[in-house]
Amino acid sequence: MSEAEMLIIGGGIAGTSTAYHLAQCGHSVTLLERGEIASEASGVNAGSIGAIGWGQVPDLQAYLTTGSLEIFKSLQLDLGYDIEFRQAGGLQAIHTEAQYAFTRDRVLDLRAHGYGVELLTTREARSLEPGVNPALPGCMYLPLRGQANPQKATRAFATAATRSGARILTQHTITALQARGDNTYLVETVQGLFEVGTLVIAAGAWCSVIGAWLGLRIPIVPVRGQMWATPSLPPRVFHTISSAESALHWHTASGKNANTPPELTHRGNARLTRHLYGRQTRDGEIIFGGDRQLVGDNKTPDSAGITVNHDHAAEVLPLLRELPIARTWAGLMPFSLDGAPLIGKLPPYNSLYIVSGLASSGFGRGPMAGKLLADYIHSGHRHPALAEADPARCVTLGRETSVLAAAPRNA
Ligand SMILES: Cc1cc2nc3c(=O)[nH]c(=O)nc-3n(C[C@H](O)[C@H](O)[C@H](O)COP(=O)(O)OP(=O)(O)OC[C@H]3O[C@@H](n4cnc5c(N)ncnc54)[C@H](O)[C@@H]3O)c2cc1C
Repeated sequence: MSEAEMLIIGGGIAGTSTAYHLAQCGHSVTLLERGEIASEASGVNAGSIGAIGWGQVPDLQAYLTTGSLEIFKSLQLDLGYDIEFRQAGGLQAIHTEAQYAFTRDRVLDLRAHGYGVELLTTREARSLEPGVNPALPGCMYLPLRGQANPQKATRAFATAATRSGARILTQHTITALQARGDNTYLVETVQGLFEVGTLVIAAGAWCSVIGAWLGLRIPIVPVRGQMWATPSLPPRVFHTISSAESALHWHTASGKNANTPPELTHRGNARLTRHLYGRQTRDGEIIFGGDRQLVGDNKTPDSAGITVNHDHAAEVLPLLRELPIARTWAGLMPFSLDGAPLIGKLPPYNSLYIVSGLASSGFGRGPMAGKLLADYIHSGHRHPALAEADPARCVTLGRETSVLAAAPRNA
């Protein structure tokens, strides 16, 4: 039996950032990961960091996005980890007059609230990103958007945590949990038992499985995200690239119901909208993705969806039309059913916490999510912004089978 003051389940960006920030506060931290660090969503994402600033009255989203941007910067510029971070800015392509009107109103609203975004003519957009299609009506410019290598960044948090005294154990699958009367937990792995004072669930799309062991229904479901890449090329794409098509669709119809999170691209196998994000990596691949589909634990990319996404990307950057797809991949994103993150205490337990539900933007929001949770655990004081992410709003008691196991498997 090993003892740990604090134990974190999951070696993705949420868990490694929490471990780093708790270790920085002087706590004795153990992190258990069943695979390698960044072996799930945190290692296969697009690496886009979606900040637009603090705004006049920073809310949770501003803390998570712009706070994380600052942490990424610090990791590379102050601590010296090469995570391929660049604050290159982002362009969101507008395809139709309806999207133009929607984006114009959105830009006006965001600017009125103190966020740094702009509406560009296509000519202005093409002077920043020469490959943009001249036939588009315009683009939204997001100058604070950053990008980084997701594998390198997540591993950097794990290394920084280790250097601050944390113990990171990979190839450690947790197979059962038990809450004991004295506010401690027994954590069972194949390698042995851990007796733990404070337990943090940072298990991404598998949080509901972990919660079920403690009799909790955690409403987080796995949503498949998939991507494709061109072969390596000389520099051609300089910003992160997205599209206003899904933003307008989800503004009018979020698609949320009791069993479905908001802002998916599909209902069952039927496509509702096209979503798009991408960039060119330092090693030259142009990578794009966008689909968000409820398909249980299926991580096989759907080739029809890849084709739709490739066409969508080529509408924005015509140079992609002629470029072959060299590889595809997919991962599972942790979507909460109401769309908001879960960061905080898990009632009715003491010393049980969760940091998850970061959905499709957990790479860009995970560093600050981990810091806010670590500060809460360390000080006992919950940052006011975390009220929006309080797990008590949606986590219920009940020994249900896990959402993951119950979800449909068909693509
Ligand atoms: C294709 C794709 C593209 C994306 N693009 C972006 C993007 O550009 N920008 C962005 O901000 N976000 C993006 N995301 C979303 C982002 O990747 C996720 O929101 C984020 O990585 C979630 O981090 P996490 O730490 O919560 O989960 P994960 O990275 O999934 O980590 C959870 C870890 O818990 C471990 N675990 C689970 N169960 C157990 C157990 N029983 N025992 C031990 N360990 C366990 C898993 O092995 C896993 O490593 C994308 C996601 C995908 C799939």
